[in-house]
Amino acid sequence: METDRADLERRILILAPTGKDAELCASILAEAGIACVTCNDALDLAFEIDRGVGAVILAEEAIGDGREETLLDAVERQPPWSDPPFMLLTLAGSESPVGELALATLGNVTLMERPLRIASLVSTVRSALRARDRQYQIREHLVERDRVAETLREADRRKDEFLALLAHELRNPLAPIRNSLHVLRISPPSEGLFERVSEMMERQVNHMVRLVDDLLEVSRITRGKIELRRESIDLATLMRYSIETSRPLIEAAGHELILDLPPEPILLEGDPTRLSQILANLLNNAAKYMDRGGRIWVGASVKGGQVVISVRDAGIGIPAEALPRIFEMFMQGESHPGRTRGGLGIGLTLVKRLVEMHDGSVEARSEGAGKGSEFLVRLPLAANQQPRTGSGDPAGAASHLPSTRVLIVDDNRDSADSLGLLLKLRGVDVRVVHGGAEALESIEAYQPAIVLLDIGMPGMDGYEVARKIRQHPAGRSMKLIALTGWGQEQDRRRTREAGFDHHLVKPADAAVLEALFNSFEVPARARRLEP
Ligand code: ADP
Repeated sequence: METDRADLERRILILAPTGKDAELCASILAEAGIACVTCNDALDLAFEIDRGVGAVILAEEAIGDGREETLLDAVERQPPWSDPPFMLLTLAGSESPVGELALATLGNVTLMERPLRIASLVSTVRSALRARDRQYQIREHLVERDRVAETLREADRRKDEFLALLAHELRNPLAPIRNSLHVLRISPPSEGLFERVSEMMERQVNHMVRLVDDLLEVSRITRGKIELRRESIDLATLMRYSIETSRPLIEAAGHELILDLPPEPILLEGDPTRLSQILANLLNNAAKYMDRGGRIWVGASVKGGQVVISVRDAGIGIPAEALPRIFEMFMQGESHPGRTRGGLGIGLTLVKRLVEMHDGSVEARSEGAGKGSEFLVRLPLAANQQPRTGSGDPAGAASHLPSTRVLIVDDNRDSADSLGLLLKLRGVDVRVVHGGAEALESIEAYQPAIVLLDIGMPGMDGYEVARKIRQHPAGRSMKLIALTGWGQEQDRRRTREAGFDHHLVKPADAAVLEALFNSFEVPARARRLEP
């Protein structure tokens, strides 16, 4: 098809109805390897021009007396980029009124005096074809420009939709939070009410945190601002960490989660935070896009140097026509009555980009609407499959906070005290201080195993406190976790350089902290003595 068009568009059309000019031109051009077509009259030529033309050789006696009108129509029908070259054969020495007419009406005309010389005919035709090729190149650029403009228009439209959705999604949780605060203020204290209201507020706040996290994350990835901190990580640990993150959503929807991992440890090479984000996103979606009381199956197998992780649900499924576009930014399926919590259509984009950054791939499968969905994530196995010694059996590790001393350092009293309270309620031995100097005193006096350290504090900031802790003999083996509002790569690098082990963005999720604490091998001397 394409070659046909290219052939048609490089033809020389000849109209020289009297004498032997047409025959002569055709044979000279054929000899030079240039394709040409001889036309019978102006109508025939106009028809051929419509089909495709490289250039036209026209004898002056074929036009004039109004016969050029049909030709003119054909030239006018040409698209804006097209200006077919005409070579008008005139008689030597004559002042041709027809030539003048042709120049004025057909536009792109070269006059060629007869008798023709072979060399000048061939070279004139060749340069006409060359000029025509330039026009075709302009056409390609215009097509490309239109395509890009269309893509931009589409992206712009989706962005507009997205902003409207974002405003809506962020506003939604605010109303119940405001109402709840009002209720708490005006109602007489009652434990049942307090519990109900605070649970609702927590759900809504968690939802907002998730939305904002996704937003920040996707913008960081699109700007190439994310660097992976690769390490060897056991799949079972990773799975537990991810499930902890998604547990509130799964439990709230009354779903059952069935985890089926191979008994032997499987080591992956990757950034644990990002890998867990991938799986938690898939688990959240499985929980969201399924009516209450459904089932989620999580499994893994090893095939050809890769681990294949499957997250399957018995939910609303994905229609075949939506499957190919499901990973695109801002893509969302139809809203569904069972869909209690909307998102922003970026979760799966995040998943795909993060998986690809890990040299893996992700695939969505569904037999159609109502038939459930399955997401398969393929990731390379770590080259060395020997688990780190002393890491124990991660799958069997208890999922509660270890008995560990934790020091919280934050000048924001509300932030520090509420986190302290939360950890205390979960059985952790906690001390809260509100400044760098106090923190350093506590290192000596309290000997924590883990320090949760705010960065922006007056006087001595978190970086300096961390450096000083590291210089202290008791501080070398402590786990230092930065707790900050800043999560860009340069912020993470700075905390790393100051000696932190981890960097968490506020507000830190209790489940994330729990999983992080569980992943530490806490030095024995820092463990609280059990009674
Ligand atoms: P969001 O959930 O915010 O809409 P995602 O990028 O996570 O955005 O998902 C995009 C779309 O893919 C969703 O709107 C939904 O239609 C569809 N989808 C994702 N996961 C599932 C699933 N497990 N079952 C059914 N549909 C899903």
